[in-house]
Amino acid sequence: MEGVTVVDHVLLRRLLSILRDRSTSHRVFRQTLADAAMILAYEAMRGLRPESVDVQTPLETAPGVRLADEIVLVAILRAGLGMVDGFLRLVPEARVGHLGMYRDEEALRPVGYYENVPPGVAAAEVFVVDPMLATGGSATQAIARLKRAGARRLAFVCLVAAPEGVRALHEAHPDVPILTASLDRELDERGYIRPGLGDAGDRIFGTDR
Ligand code: URA
Repeated sequence: MEGVTVVDHVLLRRLLSILRDRSTSHRVFRQTLADAAMILAYEAMRGLRPESVDVQTPLETAPGVRLADEIVLVAILRAGLGMVDGFLRLVPEARVGHLGMYRDEEALRPVGYYENVPPGVAAAEVFVVDPMLATGGSATQAIARLKRAGARRLAFVCLVAAPEGVRALHEAHPDVPILTASLDRELDERGYIRPGLGDAGDRIFGTDR
């Protein structure tokens, strides 16, 4: 499907299977999501620009690299928080922003209630994270907000995407690559991704009843 990269790795598929399983506890869910996010981060950051540096080994000078650009992660609250640790394992120096949105369950539309965008987004590589790309409403709104703050190099990283969400996000922001571990079948009438994994926020934080 246009605009989306489905990351194909047997370890990621294994982690996603654990995450989909309804019997997975929230403790295991949280840890597994962090692991999956790390694999997604590894793929999402493949194209980061390197800057050459010399490194002194105990024996001699070796050529090395560091990242040329600052990295900013932006978690869409609340479920996006579950992906932050996985990213930070690979780029612990990244700044982390938060955009709070809840879903109006009737209109199935995002309503913003909190935002904290780190300084320097205009010059940074910005990764917006949310495990579920459902209608695409929050992602589209989050990216529009970051573009208003000057962000130019953006990517959206999720765990599970619905075709409807990919279409909406790609239509609104064709310049923003989308990475996911799975492109699922569809959105149902309640706005859940099928087969999906349920409400990611509830499963991370143990708030499901
Ligand atoms: N958000 C979720 O957490 N799960 C879905 O299936 C859709 C949106």
